[in-house]
Amino acid sequence: MTVELISVGTELLMGNIVNTNAQYLSRKCAELGFSLYFQITVGDNEGRLCEVIETALHRSDIIILTGGLGPTQDDITKESVAKVLKRNLVMDEESKRLIDDYFKFRFQGEKNTIVTENNWKQALKIEDSIVIKNDNGTAPGSIVEINNKSIIILPGPPAEMKPMFEQHIFPYLKKKQNKTFVSKMIKICGIGESRAETDILDLIEKQSNPTIAPYAKNGEVHFRITAAADCEAEAHQLLSPVVNELYQRFGENIYTSIEEETLEEVVAHLLIDKKYTLTTAESCTGGMLTGRIVNIPGVSDILKEGFITYSNEAKMKYLGVKKETLDQYGAVSSQTAQEMALGAAEAAEADAALAITGIAGPDGGTKDKPVGLVYIACNVKGHVTVKECHFKGNRQKVRDQSVIYALDLLRR
Ligand code: ATP
Ligand code: MG
Repeated sequence: MTVELISVGTELLMGNIVNTNAQYLSRKCAELGFSLYFQITVGDNEGRLCEVIETALHRSDIIILTGGLGPTQDDITKESVAKVLKRNLVMDEESKRLIDDYFKFRFQGEKNTIVTENNWKQALKIEDSIVIKNDNGTAPGSIVEINNKSIIILPGPPAEMKPMFEQHIFPYLKKKQNKTFVSKMIKICGIGESRAETDILDLIEKQSNPTIAPYAKNGEVHFRITAAADCEAEAHQLLSPVVNELYQRFGENIYTSIEEETLEEVVAHLLIDKKYTLTTAESCTGGMLTGRIVNIPGVSDILKEGFITYSNEAKMKYLGVKKETLDQYGAVSSQTAQEMALGAAEAAEADAALAITGIAGPDGGTKDKPVGLVYIACNVKGHVTVKECHFKGNRQKVRDQSVIYALDLLRR
């Protein structure tokens, strides 16, 4: 089943408001396993709105419209759907009564309790449609079924749209879907998002069931693979070859296939298993790496202490980095990273140490040492590995990726 979203409102086109309805509904469609192929935003203009509804009816099974259900002249969503379907708008007595009640309740004790004429417009329904009650406002929603297709019309304000969707539309769509979904998360690190996507472009291009949805998250790439079938066993059967294929292609870069597990947890569990203690020495990440490790409860078993050594003086004072090393190779160098990792482990009397030194930008880059150059050293019981990384992106991105690559280096 294919879904198309139509967000109605000139204020969306003008950039006055952010289209959070589209984001919310897209997520819900993914949760339901529907294929959402189009998201259209159109202003409060009848001609253009009718045009997009007609197009959507040709290419999609389920069309969800939000906005333009209010009482004013520019609210024309229902009218446009009726026009395209060549159906009449008729008064829905129940909606009329609810609007009347709403006004009596809302303005009780005030003189002006009379519902204005344009409010009755909200009680009009498209002939042969299902009216959906609005518990948080006056504009009812509706569902129109035509030739095995459904047009779902929802109010624009998120506070009205979301509860209506949760309570009435989600169950309606779920019944339509009538399939069991099984999904698996594969989390990878140590390779950039575009490389990761390129590596499986062939799989993404030919996918239908299961589907592979990649998304990048602070320097990591996550793939959600979802299979739909009549029963769970069948869905698992569809899922496993694709999951295996991803393991083939990404191998070592996959750090977990457990939905809730984070990279720092994987690393922490490895250290706990080996009964190794850890320390950190951070320059450009300024404590971000230590912060991530401390996110995990019970980390006091492994983490001894962390050093934030931003200046050269601090690197010498706390980690014993040699002045000659800094003078000869600079603070951002493989040699300095190595000495940081050795010095930190010694100072903290830890089994393992991670050290990060780099140029996060935006300033400070040179031709030889550009912004994004980061050295990461991993010391496990005196055996040091240093990785030279060239990250792209702004200061935050460079620092995020440094943390991920450091954790990844220790994981391997
Ligand atoms: P009303 O009865 O308030 O007129 P409506 O159903 O006609 O509701 P609109 O007039 O299109 O809806 O939008 C009303 C308000 O709802 C907007 O000003 C905006 O604050 C919010 N809104 C509408 N569409 C969206 C959207 N796609 N995403 C987020 N907010 C939205
Ligand atoms: Mg409106």
